Amino acid sequence: MTIYITGHKNPDTDSICAAITYANLKKKTGKTENIIPARTGDINDETRFILKKFKTKPPQLLKDAEGKKVILVDHTEPKQRPENMDKGEIVEVLDHHNINFVQATPIPFHIEPVGSTCTIIADMYFKNSIELKKEIAGLLLAAIISDTVIFKSPITTEKDIGMAQKLAPIADIEDTEAFGIEIFNAKSGWDEKTIQEIISTDYKEYDLGGKKIGIAQVETVDTTQLKQRKQEFLKVMDSMREQRDLDTILVLLTDIIKEDCIAFIRGNSTENIAKTFKKEIKDNQMYLPGVLSRKKQIVPPLEKAMK
Ligand code: MG
Ligand code: MG
Ligand code: MG
Repeated sequence: MTIYITGHKNPDTDSICAAITYANLKKKTGKTENIIPARTGDINDETRFILKKFKTKPPQLLKDAEGKKVILVDHTEPKQRPENMDKGEIVEVLDHHNINFVQATPIPFHIEPVGSTCTIIADMYFKNSIELKKEIAGLLLAAIISDTVIFKSPITTEKDIGMAQKLAPIADIEDTEAFGIEIFNAKSGWDEKTIQEIISTDYKEYDLGGKKIGIAQVETVDTTQLKQRKQEFLKVMDSMREQRDLDTILVLLTDIIKEDCIAFIRGNSTENIAKTFKKEIKDNQMYLPGVLSRKKQIVPPLEKAMK
């Protein structure tokens, strides 16, 4: 029997590294099934850099989940699952996000409120004394650093920091902070990208109070250049709203150094959103100091706004 392990659509580093490292763990613990790490979309620049650094091949592309057995990592949200997942079978879940999941049959379902899926997986390796090669430790560490924005994001927990400290020597990383900057630099180079490419790098859709909301996050070390392309952003956001039938679309320009966020907003729920965040939205723009996490600081208040 073949089982695929995959993260969310528009995979980020945590989704890709979790699929690879969890498949490796399952193999090492002697599971008989044929476990295949997979992805549902293209690898982004940051993840490409990390895979290259730790000499690992990208997981296999899973275009369609129809008739397939799948382990979901790094998401539960139906809109983020592989294509036709409803015509396949979810056999397990391992995640660190808000839970949007209904299933008639019981399955192993592991959720922990930590900074990254790879924190949970690293813990499993250590607890079960499973051999951790440099490459696997490196992928786990990189995903933790990426998801927690070098431990600055409010989603960061003691456990994330603890796991990173244990992984770093095995991965041969002396300075995790410096490695973090390297990771985020691999992702920049936004200037050479089209707005569509920038938005789709880290774009997620949510069903919030029956409304379809699209949220893109652009993590950068400097928002100056991106801000200047606002009119282009708004144009692309409008066409995405139409094409994807979105109630509202947000693009978050997150400055990981200044630790703040500029949000561009288009859609029907703009006023509700302004009210919920107690902010003024002027020229389709809202300023959110101290906001680094879509998961913890954006999605929960939005869910409230949509009710
Ligand atoms: Mg993710
Ligand atoms: Mg994650
Ligand atoms: Mg992220």
